[in-house]
Amino acid sequence: MFHARRYKHCPSCGGPVEYRVPADDNRERATCLNCGSIHYENPINVVGTLPVWGEGEATQVLLCKRAIEPRYGLWTLPAGFLELGETAAQGAQRETDEEAGARIELGPLYCLLNVVQVGQIHLFYSARLLSTEFNPGPETLEARLFHEHELPWDQLAFRTVRRTLQHFFEDRRLGRPPALHSGDIG
Ligand code: ZN
Repeated sequence: MFHARRYKHCPSCGGPVEYRVPADDNRERATCLNCGSIHYENPINVVGTLPVWGEGEATQVLLCKRAIEPRYGLWTLPAGFLELGETAAQGAQRETDEEAGARIELGPLYCLLNVVQVGQIHLFYSARLLSTEFNPGPETLEARLFHEHELPWDQLAFRTVRRTLQHFFEDRRLGRPPALHSGDIG
């Protein structure tokens, strides 16, 4: 069974944490040996967009070259951790603005991918670019459009990005209307 084990010290009192199965539970939880607090850990949501420009053969997608670790220098769709107080769609839009400085019209959810190994769920929304002017933030070295034949398949930062791009270009090739894809990575 997978355990994220994010805690070494208690966020409440700073005491040492041990992973134990609490009474009436069936999983190991971060349990403070000092104050007895139990800290539950659940999967984290990563939200992003698949920003598209143009139609048919001229279709291009927006990728960002990462200026931060992990995966410095590799290409990703704009995405990041969902924050408290925002919806998944708002988070996806915010990340697109922060990482690429791209103006988009957000579409429906396109890809939901479970990455159980690292305790994450990645959500990518369809998005239509409203302009080709980008203003990348500090987490991005470069933001640019790619035609399918230009895609840097061997320099993609994350497998969820690869999977989402594969679905998009396959749907387009088969003339399928964009519909939600869901799956598991790992
Ligand atoms: Zn404690």
